[in-house]
Amino acid sequence: MKDILSAIQPTGDIHFGNYFGAVQNWVKLQEQYSCVFGVVDYHAITMPTNYKKLRNNTWEMVFNLLSIGVKTENLFIQSLVPEHAELCWILGCFASYGHLTRMTQFKDKSQKSSSETKDNFVSGGLFNYPVLQAADILLYRPKYVPVGKDQKQHLELARDIAQRFNNSVGEEYFRLPEILYTETPSIKSTANPNIKMSKSAGEKHYISLFSEDNRLTKQIRSAVTDTGDTKDGEMSEGVKNLFELLKASGKMERYNSLLQDFNSGTLKYVDLKNEVSDALLEITQKFRQNKAEIMQNKKEIKNNIKQSSFEIRKIAQDTIKSVKELTGLSNVRF
Ligand code: ADP
Repeated sequence: MKDILSAIQPTGDIHFGNYFGAVQNWVKLQEQYSCVFGVVDYHAITMPTNYKKLRNNTWEMVFNLLSIGVKTENLFIQSLVPEHAELCWILGCFASYGHLTRMTQFKDKSQKSSSETKDNFVSGGLFNYPVLQAADILLYRPKYVPVGKDQKQHLELARDIAQRFNNSVGEEYFRLPEILYTETPSIKSTANPNIKMSKSAGEKHYISLFSEDNRLTKQIRSAVTDTGDTKDGEMSEGVKNLFELLKASGKMERYNSLLQDFNSGTLKYVDLKNEVSDALLEITQKFRQNKAEIMQNKKEIKNNIKQSSFEIRKIAQDTIKSVKELTGLSNVRF
């Protein structure tokens, strides 16, 4: 059993939404709890995929996470632990079909998949994705799952599946995992503050954690502030998001003073944007430097991650053994 489990998809870059919403918390929680963190490549193939690039993207995400401070021994690659797929099948038989049809991410992502393919293809894997996520979590029987707000519905499903499993086999085998938020569990796109910051929405809708300085400054300078639909004195979604970014960066003094300016009607957006840019640049510069060092030892790091995945797999194998015991499936280790 582990205290904490969380995961991220290797679908390209890592951004400030991922960081402030989840990964920053991973790094902190490692000091206090036993943790496992996955790069979940089985999830990546639920959407139209460039298969030639996937493995590189997976390693790139590993290097990114290590640069941010995730510890090697806590990190695994999902497809090196095939028990995720096995538990997904078993838990699928404890997941309610009706519940699965209500997943809002499936609705959003199926539209995207359909528009990206010539034959409007939406995979069964995408529909089953929340069950795989439940398996990712329950395989390690964690107490907490640190994720962003967008994952709330999926975590409720994982708890439902665990509860039904426990009731069906007559034993409280799975702990019901609890969601753990950061103070900023939902970061918005600076180009459109009505949607979340996300890789899948396109390049202008996320700010990379390893961004070049010029690009980052430009993205913040052009951040949408007023969309014309706010009343006098009310804070627009765009401005709220900039304040959230400043708070998440830990710049509380500047945050409080600019908030005072806002409340007294004297805030200049350019000042807010400059502060946000500076705060984010401090972070990206540090991470870029860490990454440059990490990239010197790629080969050794790859070997270490294969080893940590191998060690973490042992926990997964124990869970599968117990689950098969409890469900009457045959259970011989060859
Ligand atoms: P993406 O949504 O960019 O494809 P993932 O689905 O791989 O990223 O999410 C990895 C983690 O980052 C999850 O815990 C998710 O909740 C969190 N996350 C993603 N986007 C945001 C956001 N805009 N704000 C807060 N947390 C986020």
